[in-house]
Amino acid sequence: MNIVLFGPPGAGKGTQAKRLVQERNWVQLSTGDMLREARQAGTPLGQKVADIMDSGNLVSDEIVIALILERLEEAEKAGGAIFDGFPRTVAQAEALDDLLRSRGAQIDRVVRLVVDENALVQRMEKRAKEEGRADDTVEAFKTRLETYANQTAPLIPYYEGQGKLADVDGMGTVESVAEAISEVLDRE
Ligand code: AMP
Repeated sequence: MNIVLFGPPGAGKGTQAKRLVQERNWVQLSTGDMLREARQAGTPLGQKVADIMDSGNLVSDEIVIALILERLEEAEKAGGAIFDGFPRTVAQAEALDDLLRSRGAQIDRVVRLVVDENALVQRMEKRAKEEGRADDTVEAFKTRLETYANQTAPLIPYYEGQGKLADVDGMGTVESVAEAISEVLDRE
């Protein structure tokens, strides 16, 4: 099964993706995590994307599509891919559809975590203390919310049109959100 965990920054996509990895042995494909790893390893790619990430803007579609491609086989072998923070533009969604189609697969479900955007800044500040991410500053976070509204939210009608979108209330506890996601995934 191939699913997209969708929602604004700070909605809890990463937390829920990690739970699904534990519960279902699927593979989490987080482009944000892959980019942070590249930065930490000091690769040319990591150096190239550092400033863009810290500002809260998006890196190029080509870069993230290439990163996804590198990990797709691993997810196929595991029997499930959890796309987390990808796709973030309609061009990325179209590329992903093409990529999966060429491998005889498809996105099966898009789970949208619906959250109160006013609560997101508070969540971000909490995460900044816990994880110390360089883009968890109020200014960068505002840019990330704007980027989400302008470039990523258009994916809602895109996936709605494909009949794949399922909304889940993302404001509850980690456990209750996880339960609601499981229910959506196990629904026929
Ligand atoms: P995330 O951890 O998903 O919030 O991503 C952190 C940052 O990495 C984003 O603010 C972007 O700069 C970059 N990034 C992650 N995923 C993507 C993507 N699919 N497309 C473009 N940029 C991305």
